[in-house]
Amino acid sequence: MSKNSQYDVLIIGGGMIGASMACALASLPLRIAIVEAFPFRSNNQPSYDARSIALAYGSKRIFETLNLWLAIKKDATPIEHIHVSNKGQFGVTRINAQDEHLDALGYVIENRIIGNALLSEIEKHDNIDLICPAKLESLDISTDKASITIVQDSKNQSSKKYSLEAKLIIGADGGNSKVRELLSIESTNKDYQQTAVISNVTPGKPHKNIAYERFTQQGPIAVLPMTDKRCSLVLTVNTDQVENVLSMNDETFLSYLEERFGYRTGGFTKTSKRFSYPLSLMKIKEHHKPRAVIIGNAAHTLHPIAGQGFNLGIRDVSSLAEVIADALKNNQDIGDANVLTKYQQQREKDQQKVAFITDNLANIFSNEFYPLAKARSKGLLLADLFPAAKHLLAKEAMGISGKLPKLSRGLPL
Ligand SMILES: Cc1cc2nc3c(=O)[nH]c(=O)nc-3n(C[C@H](O)[C@H](O)[C@H](O)COP(=O)(O)OP(=O)(O)OC[C@H]3O[C@@H](n4cnc5c(N)ncnc54)[C@H](O)[C@@H]3O)c2cc1C
Repeated sequence: MSKNSQYDVLIIGGGMIGASMACALASLPLRIAIVEAFPFRSNNQPSYDARSIALAYGSKRIFETLNLWLAIKKDATPIEHIHVSNKGQFGVTRINAQDEHLDALGYVIENRIIGNALLSEIEKHDNIDLICPAKLESLDISTDKASITIVQDSKNQSSKKYSLEAKLIIGADGGNSKVRELLSIESTNKDYQQTAVISNVTPGKPHKNIAYERFTQQGPIAVLPMTDKRCSLVLTVNTDQVENVLSMNDETFLSYLEERFGYRTGGFTKTSKRFSYPLSLMKIKEHHKPRAVIIGNAAHTLHPIAGQGFNLGIRDVSSLAEVIADALKNNQDIGDANVLTKYQQQREKDQQKVAFITDNLANIFSNEFYPLAKARSKGLLLADLFPAAKHLLAKEAMGISGKLPKLSRGLPL
């Protein structure tokens, strides 16, 4: 790598969102670099780990526009029905793809499959450099450029520092974003005192492409249909219980799961290794500073209760790519504050709404105060009885409500 390399766009973080951002910008006349802390296609890459994503219908449309869907499709399991219930109470809401005149409400895909598709696409583009393993260390913004220092570490080399310059820095470096810290972008953080335990489980009965969201006293449980007759499990537990749940043998764990989830799936016969993720809500006060903007988990970290984090982040990607493309068409500087303000105006409403909905769901459905438990059961029942309410719910879950950017509508930039 040459020192003081100059780029138009530097993306910090080559995870699910940073790599998607690079793919979205690939067709534009830009020199792009991604700086990623983990080695290329590393098995330890935390963004492409053992989790699965419930990819909303709207996000699938973005991947289609970016020509990524074909590489993902064969390993994607369609969600044809969503079933929401509340343990120990009456009231169930069902959303069906058929009622929405669609083949699927969304798709369940393993993160590593999406990661492989994104990295293969990036490799095809001469205008994208992937610099890894390398970590952002410092950031300096001046009137006409942004400069960063990165540290490259490899087993055979001692660590080396390099300087890179760009017109625009995009921070896609996740919840503990160094970009956010170096830009002094203020954020608020709420610890849910809950941890998500994930694994792949085999249900006793065929999953029939149903995604279950079950609310229980100890927190929500998602059981999502996936390939090889398996389901992807996201089990919320109180953080003080997590060590206990992780250390259970498989048999005890499956009994514990059945006890909390019930027998809708005919019980569970097998589980893979379990992993845990502490849950919090992080919100930012501003999206950008001169020549720098943050997107994805760097800008919003959510409770996974409704499977919205990546789906929200890919809408950030879609909007930012369009704003940058428009700036290029109008011969504007892509790092200009007006360009980045336009992005913020397009995104803040959606980000605030999704954070509000997931936070309230997490609070309301993890609370055993009796009147609240009754009210939410009524809410589920009412939502099930009124098609208009259900349609609105479905549109939110599918990520196709509100004004959509071009990539979400299947249009090139
Ligand atoms: C249990 C669980 C289930 C979920 N399920 C869903 C779901 O069903 N649907 C959904 O839409 N979302 C879901 N999410 C949310 C989703 O996983 C995240 O929103 C998404 O992965 C965020 O991607 P990201 O690229 O913004 O951040 P990350 O995945 O955190 O990636 C950040 C990247 O930046 C790199 N990096 C960090 N610091 C530096 C640095 N200093 N220099 C260089 N590189 C750096 C990291 O190595 C990493 O590759 C779930 C989350 C959890 C925890």
